Amino acid sequence: MAARCVSVGVPVPGLGRLTYRVPEALPLPVRGARVTVPLGTRAVTGCVIEAPVAPPDTNTLRDIIEVIDTDAFLPETVVALALWVAEYYAAGPGDALLNAMPPKARTGDASAFRRVPVAVWKAEALVLRKTALKGDKQRVAAELLQRTPEGVPLSALRREGVSLATVRSLERAGLVAIHDEIVERDPFETVGGTDRTQWSLDGTTPQGRELTPEQAHASRHLEDAVIAGLFKTILLQGVTGSGKTELYLRLADLVLRRGRRVLVLVPEIALTPALAGLFRARFGRRVTIQHSGLSDGERHDQWHRIRRGEVDVVIGTRSAVFAPLDRVGLVIVDEEHDHAYKQEEAPRYQGRDVAVVRGRMEGAVVLLGSATPSLESAANAAAGRYDHLTLTQRVWNKPLAEVRLVDMRKEFTAHGADVMISQPLWEALELRLSRGEQSMILLNRRGFATVVFCRQCAATMECPHCSVTLTYHRTARKVRCHYCNYASVIPKACGTCGGEFLEQSGFGTERVEADVRARFPGARVVRVDRDTIRRRGAIAKVLTAVARGDVDILVGTQMIAKGHDFPSVTLVGVVSADVGLGVADFRAAERTFQLLTQVVGRAGRGDIPGEAIVQTLYPDHYSVKAAAAQDYAAFYAQEIDFRTRMRYPPTIGLVNVVVRGPSLGKALDDANALAAVTRHAGARARLLGPAPAPLSKIKDEYRAQFFLKGVHRRAMRDAIEHALTQRPELRRRTVVDVDPYSTS
Ligand code: ADP
Ligand code: ZN
Repeated sequence: MAARCVSVGVPVPGLGRLTYRVPEALPLPVRGARVTVPLGTRAVTGCVIEAPVAPPDTNTLRDIIEVIDTDAFLPETVVALALWVAEYYAAGPGDALLNAMPPKARTGDASAFRRVPVAVWKAEALVLRKTALKGDKQRVAAELLQRTPEGVPLSALRREGVSLATVRSLERAGLVAIHDEIVERDPFETVGGTDRTQWSLDGTTPQGRELTPEQAHASRHLEDAVIAGLFKTILLQGVTGSGKTELYLRLADLVLRRGRRVLVLVPEIALTPALAGLFRARFGRRVTIQHSGLSDGERHDQWHRIRRGEVDVVIGTRSAVFAPLDRVGLVIVDEEHDHAYKQEEAPRYQGRDVAVVRGRMEGAVVLLGSATPSLESAANAAAGRYDHLTLTQRVWNKPLAEVRLVDMRKEFTAHGADVMISQPLWEALELRLSRGEQSMILLNRRGFATVVFCRQCAATMECPHCSVTLTYHRTARKVRCHYCNYASVIPKACGTCGGEFLEQSGFGTERVEADVRARFPGARVVRVDRDTIRRRGAIAKVLTAVARGDVDILVGTQMIAKGHDFPSVTLVGVVSADVGLGVADFRAAERTFQLLTQVVGRAGRGDIPGEAIVQTLYPDHYSVKAAAAQDYAAFYAQEIDFRTRMRYPPTIGLVNVVVRGPSLGKALDDANALAAVTRHAGARARLLGPAPAPLSKIKDEYRAQFFLKGVHRRAMRDAIEHALTQRPELRRRTVVDVDPYSTS
């Protein structure tokens, strides 16, 4: 009899499908089931891709060790989606499949469910053995347990003063049974931490409210698409506060009533707890969330609830695009332009784009929402591939903030080159303080000073492991590398010339906070950046404090620009609008425009009109001007023209290949070797480079890169794949990034 074989994906980057034999004693596993297989000297968890397959022509065929699942662990759509990701993003199929599983599934750990001991009163015992209760403690316990027929966890009894010994004595008397029960960890306990009341206030009054005319028009279009029940992608472009979320909720409601389910992707849950809260308030327990801020245990529990069909709405960050939800009728991608949708490790997928593919596989409506659509989505809409709906007005015509541009070159001339906060911004802050209104100050750079240099020889302090300068953090009294976290105290003398005149320049959020405090000693100032928000739940605390009015001035990085709705913030100051513009990155203008538009949208969401003051060195740059005018169309026209002329995405496809090495010379040699093979392998693309990457060293590894630009993505991927097959030893040191976000 011929050997029974299956093809399996294992989580090793770049490794293709492997064929294994299924020994007689084991059942034939199905596609999507997990198996344990030998790999080299290890045993790893893999996922079955096809079963059975024809035995290959080899006698080194190895046996599967264990079949973990008798049924498919991943549903068929998710298997197909993961395989699409593997192919499109040039990742290994095993990597993509295992990435689609919840954390503990990857190690095949069935004990990941949380079990707690629970005491249950035996109902029939009451009549028979009433006399058996000997003492007060037992009587208290008995009463508690009789009132709760489904049982009480021992930990809860302990809190009520009932000891384990007492419960055990009742168990011995035959009155109580103790057994382990699976408990589900509620992910909403950790999201946004505390402030659920705020969410439900908004979420519980849906039906009564009338849609604005623009909303009503968009809503009819969306409902028609859902009723048609076919795949369609719709870009919903609406300024901040135009009522997009309201449309999401109504559409989700319609989809659920038609017996299908809803997947909602958000860039970062911790920064936008409101959306998750609104869905929870409207749809109750059949909503769950999936994101990396949850503990492994929480994610595990929720994943299995979804898989069992107990959930109708999944809200999550990019990995939730692989949620094992079936009968999906609607996929919403909120803030679709956000760069957090791009995963910067293998598999390097773009969650928004994968969401569109999932929608196609499910025959679902895909709704992409943003005030500042990505160039990709806007171009797709312009080409007619996506429907395009717009909301141009804020709900009830609350005006957008008035924006003032401050030309910092003039400020420098008038007040000296070390001005950080301009005169107009100081005055505006003072006015808000005197009126008891709140302000926000954005600077997208953390730390106190961004450069430490020697006045004698001009040397700058660089990270010993990376090709970047170290940032000075005053509170921590350290200089720190923002790439590898290397930290050291500031030395007394320059490491290059021995001179004792070390100085700092450049500034970050820590310095802004210090200056603001110094100027307004009585003000309540809070800073939000990755230095202050390390612990889980910390951001939620700050947001709650701002919402309660306990903060006068909020200073922060782009974290504060995301979707929070603070009605009493009436002033937004942007300290340096052009932080990102100097970076050698074709998305620099787009990032700048999006960030500025988002943060300006934060001002004046309540009843008082808002004001935004934007400090810039480039008041004439189109990204700054268009953001100040809140004019997306103007920005898009200029930017798509730039991308077309320079042949950048979305007008062509781009693949970034980075080769790491122990020296720059070695990295360049290897990159050259790969590029040479790629060039002759029919990539049908232009190859640029190789050259040292802009960040030529990170964590002691040198980096060289080359790009492929072309319209035939498959040909480009196949050519690189062919080159890597010729030089398999380079696979471990090579990153292939299809549709890259960062080109540094
Ligand atoms: P967006 O998601 O576009 O930023 P939201 O959906 O959050 O906008 O709406 C902004 C605010 O207006 C929210 O407080 C929301 O509850 C409210 N809102 C939305 N639609 C309506 C409506 N039709 N009538 C009254 N208030 C509305
Ligand atoms: Zn470093």
